Amino acid sequence: MPPSTALQCFSRHVFPMSYQDGCQRWAEALSNVTLQVSRRDFANGAAASLVCQTAWLGPVDANRVLVVIGGTHGVEGFAGTAVQVDWFNLLASGALTLPGDTAMLCINALNPWGYMNCRRCDEEGIDINRNFVDFSQPLPDNPRYEKMRPLLSIVDKVARGQALADFAIQVGQRNFEIAFSGGQYSDPEGPFYGGKGLGFSRKVIETLISDYALAGRRLAVVDVHTGLGPYGYGEVICDHPPGSPSVSTAFSWYGPGCGLPLAGTSSSVPKLGLLDYAWHHIMSGESCFVTLEFGTLGTDSLFEILLDEACVWAQTGSSGLTRSAVASAMRTHFYPDDDSWREAVIFRARQVLQQALRGVSAS
Ligand SMILES: [Zn+2]
Repeated sequence: MPPSTALQCFSRHVFPMSYQDGCQRWAEALSNVTLQVSRRDFANGAAASLVCQTAWLGPVDANRVLVVIGGTHGVEGFAGTAVQVDWFNLLASGALTLPGDTAMLCINALNPWGYMNCRRCDEEGIDINRNFVDFSQPLPDNPRYEKMRPLLSIVDKVARGQALADFAIQVGQRNFEIAFSGGQYSDPEGPFYGGKGLGFSRKVIETLISDYALAGRRLAVVDVHTGLGPYGYGEVICDHPPGSPSVSTAFSWYGPGCGLPLAGTSSSVPKLGLLDYAWHHIMSGESCFVTLEFGTLGTDSLFEILLDEACVWAQTGSSGLTRSAVASAMRTHFYPDDDSWREAVIFRARQVLQQALRGVSAS
């Protein structure tokens, strides 16, 4: 059997059809792992059947922990599940073992409502990856978002696209992307809305950090995302401040291709309220948090579908689109039905998770 065929076989097997299927595959694959496993599910209040699944694998007192997160952005959870299922299969088969004094914390469907409904946000319209701000302080401003806000609700897609392209020329492409996707706290029906308080998923993360006393351990955190960057490429994105010890750690673990949004060397731009920040302040310089971002159909496609679906869910405008039509378009953008893309995800995820495991367990 040629190698590509073998790769295709397992990649098809690990990719879920739906949120429910993803939870089932994750639990089944985990049940085959012979390590000491402790499971904990977090029920989401939006529906009785919605849960974020978590599991601790290996010694409870390990000083080093590899944390893998999927589904921070709901619909991106399909790939997040697949990466974890594949990893469980490697552990179950004996192809992979955890080094001494090392454990794993796996989080599947961190935002189960978004996963179920093929949205990035949660049931409150919150983008969890903009929700990690200090809500006891005045919320961050995004004045350029306020300026472009009227353009976002132009019903005619061609006219909207032209207006946004003109705006991007006026302020510069990078400033446009920061304004649009960097996070905003004033428009609950708009994209990249960070919320007015702690969302469900943030509470899950903070509970896990506290209950597992993660602040006292060496950590490699890999948060799996999709939808930004070149098609099929998995970029390791590090949002630690350039020049910080954790950036040096990221380069030593993941190599020089690691992208730094704050230095302008990533497909991602600097953002407010990232999940990263919950981890940064509990990490020593020997730990690091990275996003593993798999590119799909490009930034223009990303922004267009997010605006369409925001309008449909907010019931503004008269685009003629339905929730099911935008859900399908979201799924296509964030989870391409293409074996070559899915093979690339599995190949790269194995590579990055092995780098993380080697790095965090090294003396
Ligand atoms: Zn994402």
